[in-house]
Amino acid sequence: MAVGTDVGIAARLLVPDGVLIEEGPHEHAQAVERTRELIANPDIPAIFEAAFDFDRVRIRVDILERLRNGCWRLVEVKSSTRVKPEHLHDLAIQAYVIARCGLVVDQAQLVHVNRSYVRGCSGIDWQAYFEREDVTGEVCDLSSSVPPHVAEMHATLAEPTPPEIRPDGHCFSPYPCEFWPRCTAEKPSDWIIYLPRLRASAFAELDANGIESMRDIPPDFPLTPGQQRVVEAVVSGRESIANELREALVPLGPPASYLDFETFSPALPLYAGTSPYQRIPFQWSMHRHLSASTRRCPTRPSRRTSARPSTNGRAAAASWCVLIPPTV
Ligand code: SF4
Repeated sequence: MAVGTDVGIAARLLVPDGVLIEEGPHEHAQAVERTRELIANPDIPAIFEAAFDFDRVRIRVDILERLRNGCWRLVEVKSSTRVKPEHLHDLAIQAYVIARCGLVVDQAQLVHVNRSYVRGCSGIDWQAYFEREDVTGEVCDLSSSVPPHVAEMHATLAEPTPPEIRPDGHCFSPYPCEFWPRCTAEKPSDWIIYLPRLRASAFAELDANGIESMRDIPPDFPLTPGQQRVVEAVVSGRESIANELREALVPLGPPASYLDFETFSPALPLYAGTSPYQRIPFQWSMHRHLSASTRRCPTRPSRRTSARPSTNGRAAAASWCVLIPPTV
């Protein structure tokens, strides 16, 4: 969410002299009024966070650009690196509300991050950092689906109780639902949804039979070997260690060195020569196991945090490797 906010704010630099509607989500009426004032002022080239309201549907538009022909360009900004189907639905409902409020939307654009952009020495070139995609046609194609969806949502909201929808994988698509902790508060700690790589159809079959806990899965229910191991560990309460593990590890040492490192992937490239979402190592540790007689690491693990993260992963790896004892 914070990444999206940073990228959204940065995208405003694409339209110099645009004006931000400062009112927050809880000041929607004031935001709509302020938007009206700015629309009426032909000297304003663009409005950021423009607010509209129609038939109890409230929207905020990332960027609403005034075009020369008296029409408007609707711009949605995303921190992703490509257009996704949910972005088009987002734009379609915005276009629906704006049109009902009397504005003519001539174009719909999706602005997203250009993954191949490389930051230069003099900062970020925003025109190159962002990619603008014209999705007017796709948004028009969705326009007829919006009114029935809105009607359906109004009908649901008018019901005295929430719909009987059981939580499952759909709660994470396209975004994680914020009600997940509430909807799953009564689920057991060994709920079947935590089984690794459980197919939606397998979950649905177990769920339809009232099976929520892993320990209640019938023995003949088809599970993958990995899922079976998880069930056995949960039911027995013991960690699962494969019999072959010891044999597989013996040729690796001691002596052995274990390297662990951390990276971060900023959407806005922080250093010259890096791209959006490039993984940048910033912390590492080397754990050495030198002798078979020592069960634990005999030397204190070394952990380093670079004052400046390395922007060259290959060079960073080379610098770590020289620390590995030559016998390993
Ligand atoms: S978590 Fe969200 S999507 Fe899932 S059932 Fe609850 S309200 Fe619906």
